[in-house]
Amino acid sequence: MKEEHRKELRERLGDSVTFGTELAGLTTYRIGGPAAALVEPADIAQLSLVLQLAAQMALRWMVLGLGSNILLPDGGFEGIVIRMGKAIAGVKREGPESHLWTVGAGFPTPLLARRTATAGLRGVNRLVGVPGTVGGGVFMNAGAHGQEFKDVVSWVDVVATDGTVSRTSGKDISWRYRSSGLDSVVVAVQLSLAPAEPGILRRELTEHLRWRKRGTPFDQPCCGSVFRNPECGAVTSGAAEIPMPCTAGRLIDSAGLKGYRVGGAEVSSKHANYIVNAGGATAADVRAVIDHVRDVVFERFGIELELEVKIIHG
Ligand SMILES: Cc1cc2nc3c(=O)[nH]c(=O)nc-3n(C[C@H](O)[C@H](O)[C@H](O)COP(=O)(O)OP(=O)(O)OC[C@H]3O[C@@H](n4cnc5c(N)ncnc54)[C@H](O)[C@@H]3O)c2cc1C
Repeated sequence: MKEEHRKELRERLGDSVTFGTELAGLTTYRIGGPAAALVEPADIAQLSLVLQLAAQMALRWMVLGLGSNILLPDGGFEGIVIRMGKAIAGVKREGPESHLWTVGAGFPTPLLARRTATAGLRGVNRLVGVPGTVGGGVFMNAGAHGQEFKDVVSWVDVVATDGTVSRTSGKDISWRYRSSGLDSVVVAVQLSLAPAEPGILRRELTEHLRWRKRGTPFDQPCCGSVFRNPECGAVTSGAAEIPMPCTAGRLIDSAGLKGYRVGGAEVSSKHANYIVNAGGATAADVRAVIDHVRDVVFERFGIELELEVKIIHG
C-alpha cells in the first residue's frame, strides 16, 4: 500500500486502523499473512467512511468476522481488511413477547444462541456450536441441526460499496444452502424468534454441544466444513454404497481420504469434511488438499464438490 494511502487512512480513521497486522491470529485456521491495513470500525458511520475511502483510493477491501469459515492468503491481503467486532455488536429486544431481536453484525453467534435460549426463544438456539459472528452467519446463511439464519431473518441492514446504508427484507434475499447472495457489508439484522419452553431449549443446548464435541476436531485449527453438502441421491462406487444423506464428509471418507496430508494440512480423521491445520499449514497446503479431495471424489463418484469455505486471494 502506498505511503500516501496509509497516511490518509491514519488521519481519517485514527485508532481504528493498523498496518501490517498478521491475520492468522484472527482466523480459526491460524493461517494468513499481514493485512496492508486492518480496520475495526467504531460504528456504522466509520464503516461507511472506510468503504468510501477504499473507493476513492481504488483499494481492494474484504470483510472479516470471527474468521471461522475463511482461508486467507499466505502473503497477506494487499488492501483493507474490515473486521466486524465488538463495536458493532449491540442487541435490542422488542415486540409483544420481546421476540424480535435486533443484533449487530459483530455479535458472536454462540452467545446469541445461549441468550435467546435462556430467554425462552427458539430459532437460533441450535447454532450454539457455530463459532462466528452474526454478520458472518447471515452472509453465509449458517445453520445447524435444522435451523438456518434464513428462517428467522426479518430484515438485514447493509452498507454498500459507496457507503450508503440500506435495509433489505429477509424475504427478498436470495437464500441458498450456506449462501445469502448478499454482496455488501452486513451491519445489523432483525431476527423473529418463537417462544418455547426454556427447559427444552436448555436440554437442546447441552445435547448439541455434546454432539459437537464428539464429531469436531476442536483440538486442531480448522474452518468447519470445507465443502457444501452436495444435492445427490443414493451413490454407489464399485461395491461401496454411501449411506444417505450423501454428505461431503461421507463421500470423502468413502474415497479413503481421511488422513490425506500435504505439508501441515490434513483431512481430519474425526470428520472428513474438515481439513485441519495439523501444524504449520499454509494456505497453499490447504488448497492442495482441497484440489486432491475434489479430484478423487469426482473420479470415484462423479460428484463435483463445491466449496463452503471462502478462499481469499492476496
Ligand atoms: C469448528 C467449526 C464448526 C463450524 N460449524 C458450522 C456449522 O455447524 N454450520 C455452519 O453453517 N457453519 C459452521 N462453521 C463455519 C462458520 O462458523 C460459519 O460460516 C460462520 O457463520 C462464519 O462467521 P464468521 O464471522 O466467522 O465469518 P468469517 O469466517 O470471518 O467470514 C466468512 C465469510 O463471510 C463474510 N462476512 C463475514 N462477516 C460479514 C459481514 N458482516 N458482512 C458481510 N460479509 C461478511 C466474509 O467476507 C467471508 O466471505 C464452523 C466453523 C468451525 C471452525
